[in-house]
Amino acid sequence: MTSFVQSASRLVVKIGSSLLTNEGRGLDIAAMRSWASQIQGLRQQGKSVVLVSSGAVAEGMQRLGLTSRPIALHQLQAAAAVGQMGLIQGWESCFREHGVHTAQVLLTREDLASRTRYLNARSTLSTLLAWGVVPIINENDTVATDEIRVGDNDTLGALVTNLIEADGLVILTDQAGLFTADPRKDTQATLITEARAGDDTLEFMAGGAGSIVGRGGMLTKVLAAKRAARSGAHTAIVWGRETGVLERLAAGERIGTQLSATLPALAARKQWLADALPVRGQLILDEGAAQALRLDRKSLLPVGVVEVRGAFERGELVSCIDGFGREVARGLINYSAEEAQKIRGLSSEGIAEALGFVDEAELIHRDNLVLL
Ligand code: GLU
Repeated sequence: MTSFVQSASRLVVKIGSSLLTNEGRGLDIAAMRSWASQIQGLRQQGKSVVLVSSGAVAEGMQRLGLTSRPIALHQLQAAAAVGQMGLIQGWESCFREHGVHTAQVLLTREDLASRTRYLNARSTLSTLLAWGVVPIINENDTVATDEIRVGDNDTLGALVTNLIEADGLVILTDQAGLFTADPRKDTQATLITEARAGDDTLEFMAGGAGSIVGRGGMLTKVLAAKRAARSGAHTAIVWGRETGVLERLAAGERIGTQLSATLPALAARKQWLADALPVRGQLILDEGAAQALRLDRKSLLPVGVVEVRGAFERGELVSCIDGFGREVARGLINYSAEEAQKIRGLSSEGIAEALGFVDEAELIHRDNLVLL
């Protein structure tokens, strides 16, 4: 099989902090020039490319002479604000050599959670691509507090992949790809060249965060691939300093790890629902309800819910968990937490009796439910 990059027409390329800043030693402009020129090569083949670039905090630290990553949020945000300038100046000058315009796009999870802002972001990005501009995306670190932040750019890359319905996500990193174990600790570790995105065993192999300058590790990359696959996009995890890496992928060469999307793409609204909205509560399902959702694609009825957790309002997103603690689905709930608490375990006729009214017979209608 050749690399999916060859046939992709819309790609998201994510470059991590350690690569961009040479392990925190300031922006590596020579490497950035090489990636910009390779991206230009892809564009000349008719592909649209969106770049998700980390490195703001790392570059800010370098510019401010900070030797360790600040812990206080306001200091991290201030460092990101300084570093983002360098990042954008760097990319702008690298692409200018090819006569290509760039655009800075800073997003937070909240921007993607609001349906209106999500649609706005989508049409702005489509317009930029139609105009032949390379959008350069980062998290809006300066305003992103814990509740509204995406947190790492692997996840942001996947959300952007879903947002623009890209065919593929290429994650450039400081490792050769995904290994069966951490190659820095285990000499037996071997490179996984190909797997199915969303395969549970990958999550076990990937472990935790692996770098002092970036925020993601292999696990966030594996999870990003799973997310990207929801809109039908494949993911490649490759060593970013491999010579001509993007051009070679585009020529069909298989480098690093390719995680393929095998399930049908979810409709855009369902992806948005599953990925962008914050989860406000959990419903623990009995076996029958878990089956009905998984196999029969049914709506969720109150009768199948054994426990209600969290505080949520009608219309908010809740997660449906089976008896083994596995997340089966997410969906927009028709009742508040308080009401759900009262009607859990009841048959449809019992709802009126318990609440004095019936809004809907389903707790979550299948049109508002996304299986995971
Ligand atoms: N947004 C952060 C930055 O630019 C990076 C997050 C990450 O490393 O994933 O510094």
